Parts: sequence; C-alpha cells; structure tokens
Amino acid sequence: LPQASRLDPGLRSETVRRANLSVIVRGLHEHGPLSRSELVSETGLTRSAIRGLVGQLVDSGLAVEDRAVRLGTPGRPSPLVRLDAAATTALAFDIAVDSLAAAIVGLGGVVLEEVRIDRPRGHSSVEDVLADLAQLAAGLGDTRFPDPTMIGIGVAVAGVVRRSDGLVAIAPNLGWTNVPLGARLSVALGVAVPVAVGNEADLGGLAEHRRGVAVGVDDVLYVSGEVGVGGGLIVGGSPLEGAAGYGGEIGHMPVNPAGSSCRCGSTGCWETEVGEEALLTRSGRPRDAGRAGVDEILCDAEAGVAQALAALADVGSWLGVGLAGLVNILNPRLVVLGGQFSRIFPFVRDSLQAELERRALLAPRGLVRVVPASLGIDAPLLGAAELAFEPILADPAAWFGPRLGSARLATA
Ligand SMILES: [Zn+2]
Repeated sequence: LPQASRLDPGLRSETVRRANLSVIVRGLHEHGPLSRSELVSETGLTRSAIRGLVGQLVDSGLAVEDRAVRLGTPGRPSPLVRLDAAATTALAFDIAVDSLAAAIVGLGGVVLEEVRIDRPRGHSSVEDVLADLAQLAAGLGDTRFPDPTMIGIGVAVAGVVRRSDGLVAIAPNLGWTNVPLGARLSVALGVAVPVAVGNEADLGGLAEHRRGVAVGVDDVLYVSGEVGVGGGLIVGGSPLEGAAGYGGEIGHMPVNPAGSSCRCGSTGCWETEVGEEALLTRSGRPRDAGRAGVDEILCDAEAGVAQALAALADVGSWLGVGLAGLVNILNPRLVVLGGQFSRIFPFVRDSLQAELERRALLAPRGLVRVVPASLGIDAPLLGAAELAFEPILADPAAWFGPRLGSARLATA
C-alpha cells in the first residue's frame, strides 16, 4: 500500500501529461498553427507547461516552432507552433462506386498528394480493387513504399462496416459480403501499420465536421447521395455508430410501402426515391446513365427543360419527407447534403424545404439549416485520413518512441 500510494501521484501526472499532449496535438490538427500564447488561452495550461509540452512535441518530430510573430498585442512575440505535415503522414483510400482514390495526408490534414481514377460501375472482385489500390499507392510519394513517415492507413468504402475490425459486412453496390477489408489490404500492401476502415458517409460526415461546412457544429446529419444513399450522424460532437458500427444507414429507411425494390432486398427504401437511379428514371433516362446522365439533367434544368425540373423537384420532395423524420428524431442543427446531392441542391432546395415545413415538428425544424457540403467528392477520402490519425491524436506520447530523451520528460 505505501508503495502504491508513492506511485500514484507519478502515474497521475504521467496520465495528465499525455492527456495535455493530446489536447495540444488535436488543437493544432483541427485549427492549424497556433502561437504559444493562443495555446495557453485555448488549453488553460500555464505558460511554462505549454513551453515544456511543446518542447517534447518538437523533440519528437511531431511539431515545429516557427520564429516568433507579433500578433498586434503588446509584449513579447510568441513562437508559432505547427504540426510537421511532412514528417507524420497517413495513407487514405476511397473505394467509391464510380472511382478509386488514394492520398497521402500530413498530420494537420494537409493533402500532400492525391490521385483518383474512374472505375467501371458494377461488381468488382475484392482482388481487383486491392490490386488497383496497391498500384495507386505505389505511384504516390517518392520511390519508397511504405513511406517511413506513414503511421496508418484509413479506408472509406461504400458499404456497411463493422467498427471493431473493419469487416465490410455488405457493400451492395460493389457486390461484396463479409470482406475482411482491413486485414486483406494490409497483406496486399505488405505494410505493418494499422489499417482502419469506415463507411464512406460516416467518414464524409467526419470530414465535413472537422474541415468543412460543419466545423464547430455538434449535432450534424450528413447525407451522402450517390448511387447509394448513406448517412453520417454526429450527435453531441460524437459519431452515432450503433451497437456494432452499422448505424446511420438512412438510405435504407423505409419511406414508401408502394415503392420499388431496393438492392438491400427490401422495397421502398429512401434510396429508391432519392438516389441517382431515381433521378435518372424520373427524367426519362436509363437508370444506369451514371454521372454523365446527372450532368445532362443539370444542363437541362439550367435551360428550363420541364421534365428535368420536375424530376429534380420530385427528388427534392422525397428528400424532404425523409429529412422531416430524421429532423424529428435527431434534432440536428445542420443537415449537410453531400455527394451528388450537393450538385443538385439548387434545383431541389424549394421542394425539399416545402416538405420539411409540412412534416417536421415546429421546434426542431426551427433550429435546423439544410446546406450543401463543401468538400465535394473528396470528403470520404479526407475522413479516411482523419480515421487513420485518430490514435496519434488520442495519445501522441505513444508515438514518441525512443526519439524523446528522458531528460526532457523530467523538465515537463
Ligand atoms: Zn434498401
């Protein structure tokens, strides 16, 4: 007991030190460079504590301090602290229905390199997709792969993903069932770093929350509209996942008992009324006309073609029906329409709002705004990088390794 009580304060202070480092790294990652004075006021820590902790981050290579800048305030200028994006990176992948993308993203969310290729729609074997991803990754960065700065890999996939191990339970638009994607990607790339897998709408929502139109908003409903319709729900600042991570599948919310059959096996899912195929069919085009077909509809709508405008208005009404239910249940501040929905937004806004006014309860409706996403097609890719960075944001000290001397620790 006496020994334990002697240990306790040390353990406590070590826990506090690691937690404070996490607050600083997360702050720099989400807000960009901050002066030491700003870190003092943001964290509530003392000036000397910030000096010590920043020193540890600089020594470990995670952060750099630029020369002091004057901030228009009296007193000594404060050095500007920023994360070294080139020294700590994540590899991000996006497996979308229409395309595959890879990017190297630096700590702080800086996209250092990115490549996206179109892929044919329809079912693809896991082997083919993994081979394509490996080829994309090998073309990024310098000739060394894996890059020694890479601390993790994040993957966004258009499917239902189990949080604990990255199993893709079902990806209807890829034709995948029960694919252990994280494990197989590790093998295909021959890397030892952790691979984290997430649903593309969840990760798109995370990216919009951290870097896009929903920064600073704690209750957000992100609706991703492509061939499939997905949702990323942020409640009280945290993602809503459900028991296993399968939550947020708003595209398969039943809305029309008399509707058409859905890829998931049900009928009348929201996706069958608001997804890309519904828009194409309503405008008299083949359901597989794809992105090019949507481009035509948008051109027609701008030219005032009645059938295109009516098809878009119909989709807007059904969007409003589903959103009314979700707004009643979730009481979000912001609804962010991503994917193709952000492109068609100007033409669906009025009918969407009309249905929302008609069906949502007055109290939550009065608080919510519906806006288009700001990160475009890259939102899930950026969210995948955020997923890969999460372990280092949660406990930066665990990544210091032997680079940080114990002498420095003692001075903190
Ligand atoms: Zn469905």
